[in-house]
Amino acid sequence: MTNNFIYEIIITIIFVFYAVCLFRNFYLGINVSSEVDHKEIDEVSKTHNSKINMTETEELNYDIEICKKCDKFRYKRDHHCSICNHCIDKLDHHCFLLNNCIGRKNYNYFLSYLFLVNCLSILILSMCTLDITFFYIDAQKVKGTALFNLIFQFPLRASIVWFLTCISTICVGLFFLYHLKLVLYEKTSLENKYNIIVDKQKEKEIRKLKFAQKLRLTYKNLMSIVKGENIFDLFWPD
Ligand SMILES: [Zn+2]
Ligand SMILES: [Zn+2]
Repeated sequence: MTNNFIYEIIITIIFVFYAVCLFRNFYLGINVSSEVDHKEIDEVSKTHNSKINMTETEELNYDIEICKKCDKFRYKRDHHCSICNHCIDKLDHHCFLLNNCIGRKNYNYFLSYLFLVNCLSILILSMCTLDITFFYIDAQKVKGTALFNLIFQFPLRASIVWFLTCISTICVGLFFLYHLKLVLYEKTSLENKYNIIVDKQKEKEIRKLKFAQKLRLTYKNLMSIVKGENIFDLFWPD
């Protein structure tokens, strides 16, 4: 009885912590803006003013250029989002789910949110699979909750729930893997989509790495994005 109570308390604490992390990263993903601070770049451009010949090239000879849509200075990896109508600091993509642009300042929260959604969907799929398996192995002995019986006592309903959970887990999983690949190459979705090579030599070297080395590099880059030291920092990025 006491053990059960302690066990339930621990599970509840983990569940609440997980929900808080999920909500926090979703909230910050929505509310942290990655808009370019044009004033700051204007200052940088002034100090380099003598080197600039705007009428000839319309582009500066270091890493600052002019946005053709809003006519303001920005760094070369920044892009203009036509939905937000603003230049975004290292724009990854405009996320329709969060209704916000994902860029340098909120990519950490976006990645963390994606990671947590992934873990949750894998957990739900595993529980769903186990429940169905045990139910069919020994249907007579299993006495689940009302919800469990409502779903799993009917093979068709159970199959539909399992199938939908499976599809959503695969979709979210593939999306997260795609972002891990971007993290490995330190590229944005936009640069990947339009095949923009940021550092040709570096990309070549990464391609040559073995799978284990790629994994280690992905983890290292991931930790630098969330400014963390271990996997737990993915739950609560800075
Ligand atoms: Zn712009
Ligand atoms: Zn946007």
